[in-house]
Amino acid sequence: MFRIEDALDVILGHTPTLDEEEVRLALAVGRILRRNCVSDLDLPPFDRARMDGYALRAVDTETAVLERPVRLRAVGEASAGCAFDGQVKAGEAVRIMTGAPVPPGADAVEKIEVVRVLDEGLIELESPLKPGQFITPRGVEAREGDVVIKSGERVTPPVAAALASFGCARLRVSRKPRLTLLSTGTELVEVEERPGPSQIRNSNTYSLAGYAEAAGAEVVSAGIVRDDFGATREAIAEALSSSDVVMLSGGVSMGDYDLVKPALGDLGAEILVEKVAMHPGKPTVFAKLGEKIVFGLPGNPVSVAVSFHLFARPALLKMQGASGVFLPRMRVYASRPVKGAPPRRSHQPAQLVIRDGRAEAEPLKWSGSSDLVAFMRADCLIVVPEDRQGLNEGELVEVISLRD
Ligand code: AMP
Ligand code: MG
Repeated sequence: MFRIEDALDVILGHTPTLDEEEVRLALAVGRILRRNCVSDLDLPPFDRARMDGYALRAVDTETAVLERPVRLRAVGEASAGCAFDGQVKAGEAVRIMTGAPVPPGADAVEKIEVVRVLDEGLIELESPLKPGQFITPRGVEAREGDVVIKSGERVTPPVAAALASFGCARLRVSRKPRLTLLSTGTELVEVEERPGPSQIRNSNTYSLAGYAEAAGAEVVSAGIVRDDFGATREAIAEALSSSDVVMLSGGVSMGDYDLVKPALGDLGAEILVEKVAMHPGKPTVFAKLGEKIVFGLPGNPVSVAVSFHLFARPALLKMQGASGVFLPRMRVYASRPVKGAPPRRSHQPAQLVIRDGRAEAEPLKWSGSSDLVAFMRADCLIVVPEDRQGLNEGELVEVISLRD
């Protein structure tokens, strides 16, 4: 039986990195960058006004007080996209709009709300300005030539905005892992059907497809495979022929009808992991055939989710060249006692809550690893170390966030 870390080492060590492809920025959100992004200009490209108001020389306002305001002459206008053509000289100010370049000579902006605008092109200010006020200086956000986004980072919506600002219209990203899902189980029927006695609906396909897509995969759901050696072997062989990753649920425990491992063996796949010291999710299988990888995840709906997040998600991200492949972990207080499962490391589905101003993990009331109704509400897993019978109420515990 593998420790979780050892299983991960084996899995990531055998997970290949996929080729790159080029995509347009508009289609790049969610993809993993395979090149550093270098800024092709200073950002902002000019000293930029942060407020609507007047651009002026701070030194001209040094003596301004309520009783003796400073009076300046408004000599022109700068708006976003239209610079003021000239220099701001002593005693002068330029009407300026947010986003406009601050004209040469000016070194501060006063917002329109506190400027008294008089007739005949004069304005009055009743307090002094500090140099730099309401100006975003050229280059403070990025300098031309800076590496602003590194290879291995995921393109999130704000990263896409940054890439747009640096002129990255086309990007080198990882090809998406092609993943085929197979749900094993003679007891399974599809969602449209009403299960007969001793049947249940196939639910794992839907959680796994969503999780895998969120991790960047292109998913084909190939449906249900009944617990028959030939059918299982055929389905895996066909899935392997068209995908980088085959992901099965069920059929990996010790029952007479758990046929995933025998079928993989018969196809010549090397089974590298088959049991992990964890709860739930012990019968997690990882196998390799050529450059293709196979996950045989446990059938229970909660086990499948835990096993996916601990093993398959990091592998899918590694395939894409991602620099961070693990879910965030943090320490929060347990709001109730949590049972352990020594000698296995246990993962208790829980919800993060703020109670009396402190972050707590509230273990979900669940009836076990088939309880997908309770698991629906989980946004984290409380980790109970393998050597602990349980965790105490109020104890600072480690949780794995299920929200990436
Ligand atoms: P297995 O690992 O095949 O022994 O399955 C363990 C438990 O998970 C059994 O109760 C199965 O009925 C259930 N199960 C297996 N596959 C699925 C699925 N795709 N959707 C929902 N439950 C499943
Ligand atoms: Mg089964």
